[in-house]
Amino acid sequence: MRIFEFIRPPDPATAVAAAAQSKTAQQGADVRFMGGGTTLIDLMKLNVENPARVLDINRLPLNKIEVTPEGGLKIGAIARNSDLAYHAKVQLDYAVLSQAILQGASAQIRNMATVGGNLLQRTRCVYFRDIAMPCNKRKPGTGCPAITGHNRTLAILGTSEQCIATNPSDMCVAMAALEATIHIQGPKGTRAVAFGDFHLLPGSAPQRETVLESGDLITHVTLPPPIAGSKQLYLKLRDRASYEFALASAAIVLTIAGSNITQARIALGGVGTKPWRSPEAEAALIGKAANDVTFRQAAEAAVRNAKPQSENGFKIELAKRCLTHALRTAAAG
Ligand SMILES: Cc1cc2nc3c(=O)[nH]c(=O)nc-3n(C[C@H](O)[C@H](O)[C@H](O)COP(=O)(O)OP(=O)(O)OC[C@H]3O[C@@H](n4cnc5c(N)ncnc54)[C@H](O)[C@@H]3O)c2cc1C
Ligand code: SF4
Repeated sequence: MRIFEFIRPPDPATAVAAAAQSKTAQQGADVRFMGGGTTLIDLMKLNVENPARVLDINRLPLNKIEVTPEGGLKIGAIARNSDLAYHAKVQLDYAVLSQAILQGASAQIRNMATVGGNLLQRTRCVYFRDIAMPCNKRKPGTGCPAITGHNRTLAILGTSEQCIATNPSDMCVAMAALEATIHIQGPKGTRAVAFGDFHLLPGSAPQRETVLESGDLITHVTLPPPIAGSKQLYLKLRDRASYEFALASAAIVLTIAGSNITQARIALGGVGTKPWRSPEAEAALIGKAANDVTFRQAAEAAVRNAKPQSENGFKIELAKRCLTHALRTAAAG
C-alpha cells in the first residue's frame, strides 16, 4: 500500500475543497473520501486504489436518518448500513430496503459501512482486484480478460465490449426500486440526482462509474413518501446463504387493487452493470392480474435484452426464477 496522508476535515465545505484538488472522482483519484473504509481500504491493500490523501468524513454531521416534512426519509451519507436497516420507519415503510441491506455482507461490515460508501462500492470482478491482470476499468485501454475468462458472476445486462462487471450492491437495488434521490455537495454548489441517473453504464469508459466529479461529496439520500399499502420484498439468490454477493436478486414494490396490479417498481441485482431498474418488467405488470402468468411474462421481459457470456448464461434463467418467485411472494404477503 502506498504511503498516504490521512486528513479529518472539520466540515463538508473543507472536505469538498480538499477533494476538488483531485484530477478525478473516479478510478485513479488521488484524493478519496473514506466512510467505513470497507471497500476503500480493501482496495488500497490490493494496490487497486492508490490515493495520496484520504479524507476521513466520519466526523462530518451527516449521520442522521430523519423523516422529511413530506413524509419521506432523509438519510445522511455516513449513516451506517445497520442503523438504516433497523430504523423503525425503514422497517415499516421501506421494508425492501431493510431486507436488502440485511442480506448484504456481514453484521460487522454493515456496522461499519456507510450509505455513501455503499452507493460507491466497486465491482468484485476478480481481474479488477488483481493488479497483475489487465482491466479496462482499472487501467483504461488494457483490455477485458473477463470476456474470454472467468465471468460466471458477471453481468448479463448493460454490458459493453469494454466491461461486463456487475454492480455488487444490494442496498442500491432497493434504492432503485424506491426511486431514491442522491444529494451531492460539490465545488460548484449542491445538486440532486435521481437514483437511476447516478450510476453509469460502462460503455467505452468503464472507469467512470457515476456522475460524480472531483470534489463531489454525497451528503445524503432522500426517499419519497412510501406508497400506501405497497407490498415490498427483496429476494437474493447466491452461492451460499450468507456473506456472499448476489448471483441474481430482485427488489419489488407492488400495489394491488382487487386482483389487479396498479403500481409496480422492479429492480434487479447481480445481473446488471449498474443497479438495474426494469421498466420492461413494470410495463408487463401494471394493469394485469396478479398471477403466475403475469409474473412469468414480467420476468421474460426483464431479461429480454440480456447478453450472456461463456460462463454466466445460467443467470438468465436464475434471474427469471428470482423475479417470478419474488413477485409471487410479495403479492401473497
Ligand atoms: C467481505 C465483504 C463482503 C461484502 N458483501 C456484500 C454483499 O453481500 N452485498 C453488498 O451490497 N455489499 C457487500 N459488501 C460491500 C460493502 O457493502 C461495502 O464495502 C460498503 O457498503 C462500503 O461502504 P463504506 O462506508 O465502508 O465505503 P468506503 O470504503 O469508505 O468508500 C467506498 C467508496 O466510496 C467513496 N465514498 C464514501 N463515502 C462517500 C461520500 N459521502 N461521498 C463521496 N464518496 C464517498 C470512497 O471514496 C470510496 O471510493 C461486502 C464487503 C466485504 C468486505
Ligand atoms: S469486466 Fe470490467 S472490471 Fe472485469 S476485467 Fe473486464 S473491464 Fe475489468
